[in-house]
Amino acid sequence: MKHFNEQVLKADKIAITGHIHPDGDCIGSCLALKQYILDNYSGKKVDVYLEPISTEFYFLSHADEIITESNDEEVYDLFFVLDCGAEDRYEPFATMVNHAKTLIGIDHHISNDGFGDFCKIDPQASATCEVLCQIFEEDKISKECAQCLYTGIVHDTGVFKHSNTTRKTMEYAGMLLEKGVSSTKIIDETFYQKTFVQNQLLGKALLKSELYEKGQIIFSYLSEEDFKDLQASTSDSDGIIDQLRITKGVEAAVFLYPIKDGYKVSMRSNETVNVSEIAKSHGGGGHIRAAGCSVKGNLQDVKNMIINDITKQL
Ligand code: 5GP
Ligand code: MN
Ligand code: MN
Repeated sequence: MKHFNEQVLKADKIAITGHIHPDGDCIGSCLALKQYILDNYSGKKVDVYLEPISTEFYFLSHADEIITESNDEEVYDLFFVLDCGAEDRYEPFATMVNHAKTLIGIDHHISNDGFGDFCKIDPQASATCEVLCQIFEEDKISKECAQCLYTGIVHDTGVFKHSNTTRKTMEYAGMLLEKGVSSTKIIDETFYQKTFVQNQLLGKALLKSELYEKGQIIFSYLSEEDFKDLQASTSDSDGIIDQLRITKGVEAAVFLYPIKDGYKVSMRSNETVNVSEIAKSHGGGGHIRAAGCSVKGNLQDVKNMIINDITKQL
């Protein structure tokens, strides 16, 4: 990205944000970019704005400096929006983003239409952290920066198992390993480890799961009562969709949880169904094999509509 160096050099006050409900790639890419700028450019103020992050990511450098509330009066010279497929996905910080002098988007969502003054979107990249590996100069990546990049790649590839994992992904991961990243710690403690409550929620969702279309579609949901009973938050349900997807014989998985006036829809597919298209048709987006949207309506209507959309593609 030829504008990256030029724009960072020019800017004094830089901010970085990602999508709502930040995941490993979103957190990893925002913190990696902050670290890279601090390591390689002198005299820059760099602020990262994100909604509160899960505790397992606290060990990443500068995680403790993340700002969770918007400072609407702040005007930044340069604002980076990372891992964010659409403008409504950085909504909590939109006022600041829109006031910034220059906006750069860096992303890998196929549904991203290229908002911003400059953008680099690579839908072939497994993670936004992989796109950053393309932009950054290898010998300028510190161990701290590498930890963040590796975390993002591990999360968006489901520990190198999703179909978005390419030779390039592995080569970048190898380069990051050589920087001294704590691979086992990152994989075990930020990806596989679950709290008791998260496991209980997963159990509930699996028990409530149902098969459709001769077992090609698996569906499950959690209700407000389910979350209340376990004193769990919606972010505790991250990962349930991936467990549903690996059910033998299943092509597509759907998981719902309630939000205001409707349901948050998560979808995954294995080989044929383009879930990004379905999510996009309902105002959401994502990748071909992993996508989501928020849909208004009751459980039965949302469920039937999504199952119908998937069935048409089988
Ligand atoms: P998840 O099912 O894990 O929430 O999301 C899967 C993928 O779809 C992620 O890459 C996420 O960024 C994207 N995604 C999920 N929900 C939405 C949405 O409401 N809008 C858009 N544009 N993308 C979404
Ligand atoms: Mn993400
Ligand atoms: Mn991502």
